[in-house]
Amino acid sequence: MKVTQVKCPQCDLPIYMRQKDDFFYCSSCGTIHVRGIHGVERIPYEIANFRPGTPLDDCHYIPFWRLQCDFQIKSRSVEGGYLHKLSNALKGGDDGGQLRIFVPASDLDIAVFRYWSVNLTVNNPRYSVRDDFADVQRMPATTGREEAIELADFIAVTLEAEKPGTLQYLDYDLEVQEAKVIYLPFISSPSGLHLAV
Ligand SMILES: [Zn+2]
Repeated sequence: MKVTQVKCPQCDLPIYMRQKDDFFYCSSCGTIHVRGIHGVERIPYEIANFRPGTPLDDCHYIPFWRLQCDFQIKSRSVEGGYLHKLSNALKGGDDGGQLRIFVPASDLDIAVFRYWSVNLTVNNPRYSVRDDFADVQRMPATTGREEAIELADFIAVTLEAEKPGTLQYLDYDLEVQEAKVIYLPFISSPSGLHLAV
């Protein structure tokens, strides 16, 4: 097993990593740093608690970028006249408002990526926060903040593109106001990933 050692930029203690992970988590001081375009920077994050009775051996944490967005629809043409999923996800009204877009920060299969980004964006997960990972393994992160923000547009449009032919035209402004990493616990089973909050 190859172990990589880096030094925590916050507390100077060594961080040992068993796998390549773009998010450097320091278990001593609890900070996460990334190497970004402006050098090494600390990122805000939350760890969602798993529900009682979760079998921790089958559980793993997947990091998501939660992008708090201001979403304004300028014009549209939708068969049936309304945006179904997007309207449900928007807080504020049918023509715009606040949208919390969830972008997986790990390298997931495209169908899995799409399923969880759409579902978590439409139904923002409710969870309590814990302050450590309880030794549950973390899926390594591969997606930085800038890349996540670029993917936000793809997800916003994907919300409405599930029924082919429904969305004919959509012109909008999307502004990301805050980006935070949320670690969500999942159970893997033969039928797929199950959110364990
Ligand atoms: Zn540290």
